[in-house]
Amino acid sequence: MADYQAPIEDMRFLLHDVFALPDQWARMPALEDMSGDLADAILEEGGKVCAQVFAPINRSGDEEGCQWQDGQVTTPTGFREAWRTFAEAGWVGLGGVPDFGGQGAPKGLTVLFEEMQYATNSSLALYSVLTAGACLTLASHGSEALKTRFLPPMYEGRWTGTMCLTEPHAGTDLGMIRTRAEPLDDNRYAITGTKIFITGGDHDLTENIVHLVLAKLPDAPAGPKGISLFVVPKVQVGDDGSLADANAVSCGSIEHKMGIKASSTAVLNFDGAVGYLVGEPHKGLGYMFTMMNYERLSIGLQGTGQADWSYQQALAYATDRVQSRAADPALRSGNTADSILVHPDVRRMLLTQKAWVEGGRALGVYLGSQLDLAKYSSDSNEQAKAAGRVALLTPVAKAFFTDRGMDCTVLAQQVLGGHGYVREWGLEQAVRDVRIAQIYEGTNGIQAMDLIGRKVLQNRGEWLHAFCADMRKDLSALDACWAGHGDQLVQVLQTLEERVDAWLDAKDPNLAGTQAYNLMELMGHVCYGWLWLRMASSKSASAEKKATAEFYFQWLWPQTDTLLRRMRVGSESLMADIL
Ligand SMILES: Cc1cc2nc3c(=O)[nH]c(=O)nc-3n(C[C@H](O)[C@H](O)[C@H](O)COP(=O)(O)OP(=O)(O)OC[C@H]3O[C@@H](n4cnc5c(N)ncnc54)[C@H](O)[C@@H]3O)c2cc1C
Repeated sequence: MADYQAPIEDMRFLLHDVFALPDQWARMPALEDMSGDLADAILEEGGKVCAQVFAPINRSGDEEGCQWQDGQVTTPTGFREAWRTFAEAGWVGLGGVPDFGGQGAPKGLTVLFEEMQYATNSSLALYSVLTAGACLTLASHGSEALKTRFLPPMYEGRWTGTMCLTEPHAGTDLGMIRTRAEPLDDNRYAITGTKIFITGGDHDLTENIVHLVLAKLPDAPAGPKGISLFVVPKVQVGDDGSLADANAVSCGSIEHKMGIKASSTAVLNFDGAVGYLVGEPHKGLGYMFTMMNYERLSIGLQGTGQADWSYQQALAYATDRVQSRAADPALRSGNTADSILVHPDVRRMLLTQKAWVEGGRALGVYLGSQLDLAKYSSDSNEQAKAAGRVALLTPVAKAFFTDRGMDCTVLAQQVLGGHGYVREWGLEQAVRDVRIAQIYEGTNGIQAMDLIGRKVLQNRGEWLHAFCADMRKDLSALDACWAGHGDQLVQVLQTLEERVDAWLDAKDPNLAGTQAYNLMELMGHVCYGWLWLRMASSKSASAEKKATAEFYFQWLWPQTDTLLRRMRVGSESLMADIL
């Protein structure tokens, strides 16, 4: 197995040359302390933590897995020590609110750190990103008292956070949840119900776990509008922040699953556990969307991170593996066989991975930078525009990154031939670990439905048209050598907008569901195509970057032809009475 190489050079290229993020940070008071040099140092150190603390226990964590006994979960050997090292160095609160002990780093930077965590150990990364997401939700919607009590120990990594939505009968459709909240006194509630599939729901990494739980109050309206959000700590917390008695929440079991085996996936039973209401009654699902949107981008980064790790393995293996002669005599070595890197089909697989990984990384940073503008810009127009961009592109990032993550790990496995299928080289684990990213945090099908429904048709394409207009503006300023690809992209934008406009007043109730996945995939390509051109035309683009952009347009971009053809069909064949 090759050692993980943190892709710092590519990350710096994006931060400084493609998006000029230090300039953006400098004009926002909340981020003005983040200089380019500091960002580089954070990436450098973050890369080391991932390579030296996360990566070494990825394989052993998979082999040992989490164990459940008598209601207690233990993580695999080495995870407690790794977590302590990670937390004590302050990494859990990297993006957190400074007033409560966080470090306030911009999202345009922290996306890159998250990618490296997932690349090196997705199971361990999940404990950290769920804690960060829970903190963001509390910081955005919690009272001062809740923030003061819970945020500092969570940023310090002394406590972790979870997201408790799913119930046995309610997965995608959260309006059906049955967990109840009975008022006690003093903003305290007794929470009763069962949540399943809770990532990090129980473990031995920290002294406390802070559950963010969706539940219904006695007077709740039916459906999603009747859901409230509660903070329910595993161990109760005194007013001074000290730990008190165990709360009435127990871990009934953990799941035995295909991958991410060192991440505990718990069944949690709440038996009148004491919880605290976050914000106002019945508005919990809206608050939880703060966390879900954070985790959606984050899970997208799992796809990109694992794709990059797998690509690095496949490239190292292909360089050393000698098999068959090169077709081109000029590429033949003096030996009886050549490195498999000389074979066009192996190069097709490797370059596909490279193009997906670097395109995904660029979109992750772009989206992170838009999140920063939406949160911190002092210009209300800029803020609103960025918020629309984030809303539009978050489902694309979650679904497109993770689908490509799956493609890339399988391609990397293929590059290793039979050696990719056996455990030794780690690709078999990568394929198992990345698969969940297409499913949790809202399946990719649900992301596509969110995109076409809430993000495009509901506002009559307003966010989409604004995005297309911005891309067109960029493309009109391209260097002549990239203008041909730019023209192709402009043509696709035009057809995309025409198709969406044609769907706005469609009568077929199944049309949105029929076209959702096509639209999500086309949007993914449009974003990658635009960003490949931005990268390739950047003044400091390397020859390697330009050649990868060319590969992207010759080999991957043509998938848009198929998508555009499919975007003309109606729902008839899908809804035919044959199932
Ligand atoms: C390892 C793991 C970790 C998880 N971690 C957490 C966690 O921390 N917290 C938490 O709350 N949950 C968690 N989950 C739950 C996860 O988010 C859900 O499994 C997921 O959202 C899908 O719900 P479901 O499994 O009930 O599938 P269902 O909702 O039953 O969906 C089944 C299929 O039907 C499709 N479908 C459903 N409705 C529609 C529709 N309207 N239109 C089109 N297609 C539709 C779905 O896309 C899917 O393909 C986790 C799950 C796993 C396996």
